Amino acid sequence: MPDVSGARRDAAKGYCAACGSTVGRPFRPGPDGRPDAVCPRCGSLERHRFLSLLLGVLAPELRDLDTVVEIAPSRQSTALLDRVEARRRVTLDAGYDHRAVDALASVTALPLRDGSVDLLVCYHVLEHVPDDCAAMREIARVLSPRGIALLEVPIKGGVATEEDPSATPEERVRRFGQRDHVRWYGDDFDSRLCDAGLASVRVTPPALVGESAVQWFRLMPHEVVWVVHPGREASSPMLADGTGSGLTAAFDAVLGDLARAQERLERSRARADRLAAERDALRARLSEASAQQRARERGVLTRLRRVARL
Ligand SMILES: [Zn+2]
Repeated sequence: MPDVSGARRDAAKGYCAACGSTVGRPFRPGPDGRPDAVCPRCGSLERHRFLSLLLGVLAPELRDLDTVVEIAPSRQSTALLDRVEARRRVTLDAGYDHRAVDALASVTALPLRDGSVDLLVCYHVLEHVPDDCAAMREIARVLSPRGIALLEVPIKGGVATEEDPSATPEERVRRFGQRDHVRWYGDDFDSRLCDAGLASVRVTPPALVGESAVQWFRLMPHEVVWVVHPGREASSPMLADGTGSGLTAAFDAVLGDLARAQERLERSRARADRLAAERDALRARLSEASAQQRARERGVLTRLRRVARL
């Protein structure tokens, strides 16, 4: 029976872009039970690992940053943004869930000067804000001319945004998925950004790293991040044409190569197991043959002694 436990272990391996390690242990299920969500080493979720990759791709645009702002920060995202090495880091939150931040502030009234922010990260906030267009205009106001905002919201394709700030908490759960959400975005999210003076590019994990690397990096294929610049024309040169980072073919090639190397390794393991079995069989035959030889020699000796006694 060939030993395949090693091969199985290799297949479970992934790379966590948040803590920068190859992970051999299984990733843990997420808060809603979805598989492969939580890195067993650093506790990152899919969106943190994708954010880490995005920050890497955007690195040429993120040099020498003055102010980086994080709205509703998490331990994992804060660690990632610390690596960007900005001169000033500001964390803000409205304070509903008592998370530790530098200042309590609504995203509709940011305590920041016009054009002062080089990078702003705002994940899963706008769906909570009754006047989200005011929040978008605030983001456009504080971004510097070179500034980038990374936004994430729950969105459905093929429908318009559904919203109702006056809905009861029970109704919000039913219609918007959570008792403190006031809307579920649809296809018009990008045009809302545009109306607020923000140009955006949608980026998904398959577009950034390719289909086969999505599993290796333990990302969610349908996640969308909006990479946003102030103005109507500007967009990230790294991601502008919507075809991703240009790394997808390279990742596909590397992972294809890795899969072939793994197949070769499994074949070699099977061959090594077969050879070991043959060696063991030969050893057994050899020791049996030498036992027979010794028995024959003892027989000859006994006969010789008998003859000598005669
Ligand atoms: Zn990790």
